[in-house]
Amino acid sequence: PVGEITADMIDMLSKKSFPLCMQQLHSAMRTHHHLRHGGRQQYSLFLKGIGLSLEEAIKFWRSEFTKIIDGDQFDKKYLYNIRHNYGKEGKKTDYTPYSCMKIITTNTPATGDYHGCPFKHSDQDVLRQKLTASGLRKEDADQVLQYSKGGHYQVACAKMFEVIHGSLTGGDEEAEVSFHHPNQYFEESYKRLH
Ligand code: SF4
Repeated sequence: PVGEITADMIDMLSKKSFPLCMQQLHSAMRTHHHLRHGGRQQYSLFLKGIGLSLEEAIKFWRSEFTKIIDGDQFDKKYLYNIRHNYGKEGKKTDYTPYSCMKIITTNTPATGDYHGCPFKHSDQDVLRQKLTASGLRKEDADQVLQYSKGGHYQVACAKMFEVIHGSLTGGDEEAEVSFHHPNQYFEESYKRLH
């Protein structure tokens, strides 16, 4: 974690410092006021990893979900799960955020799911739209898409990072970098912007 992150900082952080997988979850949650289990798990553990406390996490999920359900329903259906991820229920395991490998290789998203890795799970047209929406120029998007198409999802993600934030290798053009963890993407970005 980079320090204390509060619920009201997440919109801004998602635009500036989240990897594409988490931007996708965030915007789906804001649009639908809901995420299915796979998305909640991937996103909530990531947010925990960036430094969102349990109290702030409950505030964050509750304020969005209660746009379409009431508070009692939220408590019954979703509170346990959030507390569980923070090690406050059940076996009291302090769960860690998912790595890229886990996101890429397990629990393939179905229609209506927003979890997963867009570089692996989105089709190329959809991915192109997402890259353009994130401000990438056509030639940069083409390069990222090439890596994604070739199965180099984590390299594609690192290329996207470099287009937005600058080199990860200190200017060594030959070195190929990739991310192994969404929280690593966040921390690299946050460090550069603060
Ligand atoms: Fe997320 Fe990792 Fe995929 Fe990047 S490579 S979008 S951090 S799962």
